[in-house]
Amino acid sequence: MVDFHDHDKVITDIAYLSRELYRNLVTLCDDIGPRWTGTPGEEEACRFLKRKLEEYGLEDVCAERFETLSWYPEKSKVEFKPELNVVGEVKSVPLIYSPSAEVEGKVVYVGHGRPREFELKKEEIRENIVLTTNKAFPPFTSVRVTIEDKYRKAVELGAAGMIVMNERNMGNLCFTSPICWLRKDKGTYYPIEENAEIPCVSVSKELGERMKREISKRSGELKAAISTKTSLKKVSSYNVMGDLKGGEHPEEKVIICAHYDGMFLSPAAIDNASGVCVLLGIAEALSRLKETFGEKTLKRTLRFIAFSAEELGLKGSLAYVEKHRDELRNVRLVINMDELAAGRLKGFRLQFPELVPFFQKLIDDMGLPLTSHLEPFIDTSGDQFPFTLNGVPIMLLWRWRYMGEYPTHQYTHTEADTLDKIELKDLPEYVATVARCALRVVNTPRERWPATHRPREEILKLLEKPVTPY
Ligand SMILES: [Zn+2]
Repeated sequence: MVDFHDHDKVITDIAYLSRELYRNLVTLCDDIGPRWTGTPGEEEACRFLKRKLEEYGLEDVCAERFETLSWYPEKSKVEFKPELNVVGEVKSVPLIYSPSAEVEGKVVYVGHGRPREFELKKEEIRENIVLTTNKAFPPFTSVRVTIEDKYRKAVELGAAGMIVMNERNMGNLCFTSPICWLRKDKGTYYPIEENAEIPCVSVSKELGERMKREISKRSGELKAAISTKTSLKKVSSYNVMGDLKGGEHPEEKVIICAHYDGMFLSPAAIDNASGVCVLLGIAEALSRLKETFGEKTLKRTLRFIAFSAEELGLKGSLAYVEKHRDELRNVRLVINMDELAAGRLKGFRLQFPELVPFFQKLIDDMGLPLTSHLEPFIDTSGDQFPFTLNGVPIMLLWRWRYMGEYPTHQYTHTEADTLDKIELKDLPEYVATVARCALRVVNTPRERWPATHRPREEILKLLEKPVTPY
């Protein structure tokens, strides 16, 4: 095994002492702010990231354009009949892909929105308004119920609209999230290209709880009206990328990626200025490394990609995979970084079992107190998924699932996802750890790299298996 000690020193030096990491975070979160697809914020962020990759000395830096549909919220209003005596305005935010509509009806509370809870209120739901929560894990069960599941059930039972209370946060905060994620057709996944059927808005926990009290006080007779205006527009969006070319096998690649778009209602600091600033930090560190030790320092190419349109349902990464399909068989590994302020770094999550001992050995050899795990299910929620579907090996960072989630992580997708929620001291550790790993992965000889690409049928089979309870 090559001794990387001197290399690690250069990486660690940049990771911990470069002032860029914090400066870049401030630029993305405070100076640029919301980076919703198809807005000036996204364009400004795209130019900024391109400039940074060039400044750090990456090659073939470009903003690769793709045409897509973005969704825009214009108005959201919830009114009660008779009016409720509440302090301040009744805030609401439409969920992504909610259509424009004006509906009214009786509010029917379905608890956590488990299928059984919907069935019990089946008769009442038709042409009325469903009230549920954004909590994904109902108590006393291991089943995960997503907002998309609840929404599908409400539509199936003929509801006129849906209100989701934000039970993740207190403090009169609404949230947003897509009500449809990907369109699946015959084993292939496509980006969402039309609005969903009925309007769906979020309200704060405080308002949701008040609605529940009013329902019981009035023997189930609380009426609400939802009025939303939203639009879908064709836009040009951009994935920003750059390479550190391999000195021996430049055609073979390791991809490090993070999405730079963010929710329309916040500076999207945790989700995902954190990930994209760590990506810039790794690019800076490894570029300096190559400069210091020469062309052959990285035997294979490292490609850095900042994806856009992730929050609209992986539209940037789907477009990339579509365009670069022929190169995918030469992608050794994809490392995707999302919400790095969710919890302390605890290890790596891998989707193919043969990589687990490989990365555990790599971690042990580096002397790091981390562990390598097999992901018990195929994660469809991030930009790695279009690569997984094409059989490419994936590595994700283990930060919060199962244990050790930071309380501030709950603010993602709300207006309170601001820079102060990021645990700044963690970020240099992310930069150093991922950069050191990437250095070792690109330099591992072919015969020692254990992972193989999987045929699509195998991935589809893994997807069918139910989510492992956690
Ligand atoms: Zn994200």
